[in-house]
Amino acid sequence: MCGIVGYVGHRQALDVVLGGLRRLEYRGYDSAGVAVLDGAGALRVQRKAGRLANLEAQLDADGRQTFAGTAGMGHTRWATHGPPVDRNSHPHRDASNTVAVVHNGIIENFAELRTELEAEGVELASDTDTETTAHLIAAAYATGETAGDLPASVRAVCRRLEGAFTLVVTHAGVPDQIVAARRSSPLVIGVGDGEHFVASDVAAFIEHTREAVELGQDQVVVISRDGYEVTDFAGEPAQAKPFTVDWDLSAAEKGGHDYFMLKEIEEQPDALANTLRGHFHNGRITLDEQRLADQDLRDIDKVFVVACGSAYHSGLVAKYAIEHWCRLPVEVELASEFRYRDPVLDRDTLVVAVSQSGETMDTLEAVRHAREQKARVLAVCNTNGAQIPRESDAVLYTHAGPEIGVASTKAFLAQIAANYLVGLALAQARGTKYPDEVAREFAELANTPAAVQKTLATSEQVRALGREIADSKAVLFLGRHVGFPVALEGALKLKELAYMHAEGFAAGELKHGPIALIEQDLPVVIVMPSPKGRAVLHSKLVSNISEIQARGARTIVIAEEGDDAVRPYADSLIEIPATSTLLQPLVATVPLQILAAEIARSRGYDIDKPRNLAKSVTVE
Ligand code: GLU
Repeated sequence: MCGIVGYVGHRQALDVVLGGLRRLEYRGYDSAGVAVLDGAGALRVQRKAGRLANLEAQLDADGRQTFAGTAGMGHTRWATHGPPVDRNSHPHRDASNTVAVVHNGIIENFAELRTELEAEGVELASDTDTETTAHLIAAAYATGETAGDLPASVRAVCRRLEGAFTLVVTHAGVPDQIVAARRSSPLVIGVGDGEHFVASDVAAFIEHTREAVELGQDQVVVISRDGYEVTDFAGEPAQAKPFTVDWDLSAAEKGGHDYFMLKEIEEQPDALANTLRGHFHNGRITLDEQRLADQDLRDIDKVFVVACGSAYHSGLVAKYAIEHWCRLPVEVELASEFRYRDPVLDRDTLVVAVSQSGETMDTLEAVRHAREQKARVLAVCNTNGAQIPRESDAVLYTHAGPEIGVASTKAFLAQIAANYLVGLALAQARGTKYPDEVAREFAELANTPAAVQKTLATSEQVRALGREIADSKAVLFLGRHVGFPVALEGALKLKELAYMHAEGFAAGELKHGPIALIEQDLPVVIVMPSPKGRAVLHSKLVSNISEIQARGARTIVIAEEGDDAVRPYADSLIEIPATSTLLQPLVATVPLQILAAEIARSRGYDIDKPRNLAKSVTVE
């Protein structure tokens, strides 16, 4: 999620590292920091909350010449553990200021590691999961089998870590080496002449070298001026994948895509996995922050989900899950309407506020209104420390990473997953599901990143279809049950990106009005429920499709693999992997995002910055 750069070579490391961080600025961050080894056994560190410019101003104030040295590293943070303040910014150090660590990702077992360190008398200076690794590496380097061997110390600590991480480590006593490790989080090596780089993305070093090496899963690399050496976590020599970067800088920032949004669509399996990571521990679902007693959750007798735009659609999906799992009435309401209506709220009402930025003004005002009425508020948001989570009683962060494309894609899927976790947390607290049932539901959720990955394989087919229908004057979207909010989201994406008239309907409503819109060749996208789910839903939808096909519409059907019953009614059939009924929106949304993006591109629009829209809507 964050940006990482490490360098050993012949230039001043501070310049190279800051240059690299600037290239990674698109990843978004809430703080930045650097560490430089001066070659004489001293480690110079500076870090600052806020944008990179804040750090640079501080470095100017400190005097940049005091950061002289040819090995160093830098980090732009995207907070997951602890608010974005100076003390939580990376690099993190051990007590003796000899080891510095920067980290991307989440260390799931950090609570155990913290407890262990505290029992040994170590005082932790930050709220982060990262800091534990600095103390552990320093201890491994100081004594025992790995004493005096930095790569071996890093490997020994990595073997103890759970979760996803890229770690870059320096030690003041080893000024000519940087050690980096990765598990389920990106890391590339840049190979130069008398200099080497490590970075979360080639964009960080592309101005210096195009020769890169992709580190494999559970591998460690040691870079020095003259070379690099890769091993696995056990210390055995390992192969990493060399490649030559043939993108220019702007394509490099976008992972080789023309637009951030296309990259973000591809990142969805990771966004989902990161959102789920760490929330099921010792058989229990946990939230990120809970300032409510479990008894308060048990006393809840009504849930409102308040949100805007795509987040509102994620709330509509949540309604099906929470009502089914918790037997609690759930209302989903647009934040701007909720605020000025006069909703009936009291201390036994739970308001779930969903916002990517955590700053959406309509949602923030809805939260304030709810709190004035004594309702409990749980925030689902993608930005650690933002205003909405700060004003809430409980928080579940979606760890989708920064989303640059204005129209939401990966943050939307992450919101759905987070809302499911909220539903399971409520079911668990209220005892409406047995622990083994909660575990089963979570296990199914944990399979969805792979299902989304598989769905991405439909890209080419969907894009070809998008080009075919790009000149249509309108597109309709139909779904039933959880497929209904998916239809709404498909229509919203098309409006946002392609400026086309698009409407989503509950398929059962068709005959009550919208069927009048059907005309020859009008594209109608239908989200089919699983034939293995509720048979009645499936057969009703098959009838709806045949009704619109009979009236000349062009039917584009999103259906589960092997759904042969719907095949005769589909002019185009897009097959998605099987999931349980409630989880289907996580896969069924993906082709609709790709379709909207391709139609917009065919029409010549900038899909990252749709006209008139802003990413974070901080006005009412
Ligand atoms: N989990 C770490 C933190 O909250 C790293 C976050 C990141 O990837 O930037 O500091």
